[in-house]
Amino acid sequence: MVKDFVDRNQDLWKGKKIFVIATMGLFSGDGAGILARRLQKYGASITGGLHLKMPDSIADEKALKRSLEQNKELVKVAEEKIEKAVTAMKNGKAPQEGLGFLYHLAGLFGQRLYFYNKTKRYSDKVKIDSHKCVGCGKCVGLCPMNNLKIEQGLADAGDKCTMCYRCINNCPKQAITLLGKNVVMQGTIEKYI
Ligand code: SF4
Ligand code: SF4
Repeated sequence: MVKDFVDRNQDLWKGKKIFVIATMGLFSGDGAGILARRLQKYGASITGGLHLKMPDSIADEKALKRSLEQNKELVKVAEEKIEKAVTAMKNGKAPQEGLGFLYHLAGLFGQRLYFYNKTKRYSDKVKIDSHKCVGCGKCVGLCPMNNLKIEQGLADAGDKCTMCYRCINNCPKQAITLLGKNVVMQGTIEKYI
């Protein structure tokens, strides 16, 4: 979805100086680099990059699950890292995380070759439990891909999901799943700050 956003607004980037921040659950390789290269293609100049480890957003699987306290600590560490990065930028030494060639290789072999195919396979796999859904429409407004709609009083999913997990983390009835069968732990940033 970020790629789509950059492409659709391609006239905005020419001549802009951009510092790229990428968040990740565990490892993103060159998350900042992917976006940086795309922005450069449209004429932006990249001043630096920062990778921030954040709480896991996969709400319906046990993968990467941390306690509330551990997640709060992760967010605190991320905030401290941002403060340090700002100081470094002011001193003319902006961090360059995710931007070099080695990051590129790590992202390609450690992450993308596996995850690109995986996400494609799941683009039409969002499941809505019709016994739990009350048709409130909250998920529809949150989906960045316009992949959800209300039909006959219930949420319905299409085939454009990018596995962002916003709907799953925010459904008040825990009616939505994707990788797993049940929601294990919903996470939103408000819980951690
Ligand atoms: S947020 Fe949950 S309850 Fe509300 S419409 Fe979506 S799936 Fe149904
Ligand atoms: S996880 Fe939910 S909100 Fe995110 S793209 Fe898929 S359907 Fe939309």
